[in-house]
Amino acid sequence: MPAHPNLIQLTATPFIHAYLVMEADGLTLIDGQLPHNAPYTLKAMARTGLPLRRVLLTHAHLDHVGCLDAILTAHPQAELIVSERAAPFLRGDYALFPNEHPQTLDSTGFRKLQHAPAYTLKDGERVGSLQMIATPGHSPDHVAWLDTRDGMLIAGDTFQAIGGLSVIGVMNWLNPFPTWATWNRPLTLDSAIRLRNLQPTGLAVGHGGILANPLGAMDRAIAHAQRVLGHQA
Ligand SMILES: [Zn+2]
Repeated sequence: MPAHPNLIQLTATPFIHAYLVMEADGLTLIDGQLPHNAPYTLKAMARTGLPLRRVLLTHAHLDHVGCLDAILTAHPQAELIVSERAAPFLRGDYALFPNEHPQTLDSTGFRKLQHAPAYTLKDGERVGSLQMIATPGHSPDHVAWLDTRDGMLIAGDTFQAIGGLSVIGVMNWLNPFPTWATWNRPLTLDSAIRLRNLQPTGLAVGHGGILANPLGAMDRAIAHAQRVLGHQA
């Protein structure tokens, strides 16, 4: 029995991951890899024998929403549920909010969706077993999802786990793309600390493998980021 039996990592494109979470009423899909990954994702969902109920995002970048229009078209009963902050990005509105850090936002990494959200969530709200944790930094709309049943954290692009765990605001030359695409590097450290303080039992990221018992690795990644970026929190 795997340590986190409710979670399936989707790996159609190496080092770009989406996740299936098994709930009592069916599947929740978190993120959508790239546009051409739709057939793989549909097959992975079919293999579970469970209906797709919900589609969630960590953030509205291309490599996280790429195939979601195709998935939602194939599963019209599934609800797209996103953070309040992601909703304008999914419509192509990239204006920053007055309360956000004024760091200029490069919108080229974002991708619009044809499908509109069924509803939006505020920080801390839950959908099924998953609690939404606002973690801005990689992008203004970035969130993580904590499985309240077992403490598994689906953390998106606040950390990456390629060549060891690192905070995404710190350059990792084994996979520099997520850091290049990061809106505000110091804010990713604040969000990494917020996630560490949830004391997750497992860590699943957008780029890299799943870590069991990740607290030591998170502490080391945060300490390194504090040296590189300066302490923010
Ligand atoms: Zn990413």
